[in-house]
Amino acid sequence: MNTIRILNEDVASKIAAGEVIERPASIVRELLDNSIDAHADRITVRIEKGGKALVRVADNGVGMSRDDLLLCIERHATSKIREVSDLFSIATLGFRGEALPSIAAVSRVEITSRPADHLVGHRLSIAGGRIRSLDETGSPPGTIVEVRDLFFNLPVRRKFLRAVRTETDLIQDVFSRISLPFLRIHFRLETRDGILMNLPASEDLRNRLSVILGRDTASALVQEETESGSFRLNFYLAPPDHARSRADRILLYVNNRPVKDKLVTRAVIEGYGQRLMKGRYPQVVLFLEIDPSRIDINIHPAKQEIRFRDAQTLFRTMVSMIEQAMKRHFAIPIPDASPDPWAPSPFSVDRPLVTEAGGEYRIGKQDLQSEPPEALDHQQDLVEEGPRIIGQLKNTYIICQTQEGLLLVDQHAAHERILYERLRRRFDEARPETQFFLIPQQWEVSIADKEVLLGKLEQLSRLGFDIEHFGGETFLVRSVPPVLLDLNWRPFLVDILPVLREEKDVTRGRALDRLITVMACHGAIRAGKSLTIQEMQTLLNELRKTDLPAHCPHGRPVFKEFRYPEIERMFKRIPT
Ligand code: ADP
Ligand code: MG
Repeated sequence: MNTIRILNEDVASKIAAGEVIERPASIVRELLDNSIDAHADRITVRIEKGGKALVRVADNGVGMSRDDLLLCIERHATSKIREVSDLFSIATLGFRGEALPSIAAVSRVEITSRPADHLVGHRLSIAGGRIRSLDETGSPPGTIVEVRDLFFNLPVRRKFLRAVRTETDLIQDVFSRISLPFLRIHFRLETRDGILMNLPASEDLRNRLSVILGRDTASALVQEETESGSFRLNFYLAPPDHARSRADRILLYVNNRPVKDKLVTRAVIEGYGQRLMKGRYPQVVLFLEIDPSRIDINIHPAKQEIRFRDAQTLFRTMVSMIEQAMKRHFAIPIPDASPDPWAPSPFSVDRPLVTEAGGEYRIGKQDLQSEPPEALDHQQDLVEEGPRIIGQLKNTYIICQTQEGLLLVDQHAAHERILYERLRRRFDEARPETQFFLIPQQWEVSIADKEVLLGKLEQLSRLGFDIEHFGGETFLVRSVPPVLLDLNWRPFLVDILPVLREEKDVTRGRALDRLITVMACHGAIRAGKSLTIQEMQTLLNELRKTDLPAHCPHGRPVFKEFRYPEIERMFKRIPT
């Protein structure tokens, strides 16, 4: 049983105050928190009219005595903390003693409760904050809170409530999020029309995860755990191609409390890195168990935000954990592209190709180091077991047959990935490649960009660009990293100048990464360019050596595999 006390002035004044009850879903949140804190193992929520007419939460928890019932609707009356110091070791979901009085002030509330070791229970009725009655009553052990006619005394607020459908959706969302980590509790959400959600107690978190994420995503999740000093992190990561256009499925639980945190969202996105396209967000559920003295939960009235004392350590740990997990689980190995014995002419690294821009394109010379041709019998083996390049689709996609099915590779994205990693490695090792033009190239820039470029000449020279101010707005480019030799300058400048303008030091960190991404994109073979079988092989072999073959530096997929079962379902050879 609880013993509720009213917090003294000192503690009360340190509590983050604010509006807690905005809509029916806030009532559901607060009442669920209370039932969980009361150690219930069965919690049933019933709503009518999207919670606008009724929210009723029944639990079989510790219950309240008559005295507790009278106190629980007072402001700052709680059984969960006493002293200011308790604010730094909060182990319960509630702690401020504000929810019940706030709810009671804006609706008609009836609380019926009985502690298991009491013979009779009590029912308390309140409307608009005023006590109407308190009676003895027979009742099962536990507590039932009924909240009717939300905002009956605040007609304007009532008007701002949304349609029944919308309020119901919001309630379902809150309900599924709060219940997720409490596997030992049987949760039920019902309406007049029947059961909306039934979550029996279960050993397996995945059952609950599939309620929120859907069965498909839930079954594709990979799980990892780590422990470090004051915290333990248990996380579930969906494959990058399950990403969404909103960050609403990055779910963070801190000591089982669902909270939102920008830093953690950022850590997750950074951890997925280039596997995500711009504006896409992964689906991730993170459970952080942390010493309560290392966090501050008392900063947001609805307790949905948190402050970490070691935010930076936590951030770095998360990023590196997720990065490693990504590498382990979602690095799709690109199969060996076997040389094709029927390939027409052997690939010549020096044979110049003509680019769309009319310049010469030397694929292979600077980036596609072709491997020496292999012995014929070995080739024969590979052809029998291994994948084989079939051809090129729309001069854009490389088509291969693999053991598992059909592989389509986007040639531009693949080459971008190869160049990106090559440049990255070179720059990291501080040995940039550079190649001189026979005749220096001229760059004409705007007056504003001239200043930008002037300020960056020294940095650029460390990256292999030898550029000289020729006068006016003209620059002479004597040498560049070899991948840029055959570039179409104008579009390249359009993309590179903003990076030079916005970043202070482009020779390091993220700024360098941006620069390399632009370089790789412009240096890579274009879609629409015809390639020989040998060139395609070289490309695939190089791709296989990269760390992240599945995604280009912008996060777009490099290849897509169609496995035989999928193909056979497509042709109705096997039942779908
Ligand atoms: P808080 O949860 O922050 O303490 P509330 O206003 O939500 O504040 O609740 C006040 C007190 O009422 C709680 O501290 C708890 O002792 C008691 N209480 C509320 N709901 C329940 C419940 N379902 N079962 C048992 N006790 C409850
Ligand atoms: Mg509470």
